[in-house]
Amino acid sequence: MGIHPNVLKNIRHVTPYVPGEQPQRKVIKLNTNENPYPPAPGVRKVLEEFHTDALRLYPDPAAELLTEELARFYEVEKEQVFPGVGSDDVLSLCFLTFFNSEKPILFPDITYSFYKVWAELYRIPYRCPKLDKEFRMNRADYYQENGGIIFPNPNAPTAVYEELEFIEDILEHNRESVVIVDEAYVDFAGKSALELIERYDNLLVVQTFSKARSMAGMRIGYAIGNKELIRYLNDVKYSFNSYTLNQLSLICGAEAVRDRAYFEKNIRKIIQTREKAKGELANLGFAFPDAKANFIFATHPDYSAEELFLALKKADIYVRHWNSERIKEYLRITVGTEEEMRILFDFLKHYIK
Ligand SMILES: *Cc1c(COP(=O)(O)O)cnc(C)c1O
Repeated sequence: MGIHPNVLKNIRHVTPYVPGEQPQRKVIKLNTNENPYPPAPGVRKVLEEFHTDALRLYPDPAAELLTEELARFYEVEKEQVFPGVGSDDVLSLCFLTFFNSEKPILFPDITYSFYKVWAELYRIPYRCPKLDKEFRMNRADYYQENGGIIFPNPNAPTAVYEELEFIEDILEHNRESVVIVDEAYVDFAGKSALELIERYDNLLVVQTFSKARSMAGMRIGYAIGNKELIRYLNDVKYSFNSYTLNQLSLICGAEAVRDRAYFEKNIRKIIQTREKAKGELANLGFAFPDAKANFIFATHPDYSAEELFLALKKADIYVRHWNSERIKEYLRITVGTEEEMRILFDFLKHYIK
């Protein structure tokens, strides 16, 4: 029995993305780069005052409320903003919209593993230039012919950040391709490539509410670029599902963007904890590329990463580990609260003799 082979052969077979664990009990959760602090206080107020009657209606397909707030925040026009259900939704639509060449798209060999999944899902040819030993991108790798380019900055899971000069060089060499910079972690790092969108009409910057804005559970992400690129994205979205962002995400998202002071304070706190954590890790003998995100990608010369991963997990401290060739001796550790990091380091100090 089972599905007939002729049926099977017409089914799209995909190897899905594997997200980090979401244990349904309380653990020290440093495995999926969520923000340890709550969203802006205004978000709670919006939820308390929400009338469920509003749920009868479809949400605004253009997500104007949120789009306008983001446009104001980033000082662009609202036609330059494309919101979606988390940046995963936005990025996936970008693959569908912009990567339709016969030539391979390019992204680093060590990077956000969803890129490969989307490329395979949409049957987009791809090539993965190798990061060097320090986990840096070699810019010349991106001078070759391609059907598009995508990379996160800072990169994941390495937390390595490239300066804008590097991004601009890649843009200079790729006037004929769409270049997508996935800035999920840029608020913890440095300058955003947003300031380049006026000069490069082939640049798309994608950001998310999941990390710096503490709203992974709401699923909000967005792309910013020139109006024409955004229009093509909208055309694909409206050919797919017009009502993507729900009512609550729209109003909560807009409210979160209004509170710039909270946003900045939240980020400062995490950066402070990260810098302290780097010192602690170094004292324990860990090595890591300089971390510019809300996580640190660390390896220890005397302890296997898998062993540490399992020991930590047993102690209810969750970090992320991949069993893949070049990074299997590394742990990706999300920066949590001061208290969470204290518990992590108390454990490691006892474990590592
Ligand atoms: C977390 C993350 C995303 C996805 O974020 P969502 O907005 O939650 O979908 C995209 N890219 C990178 C590199 C990430 O780390």
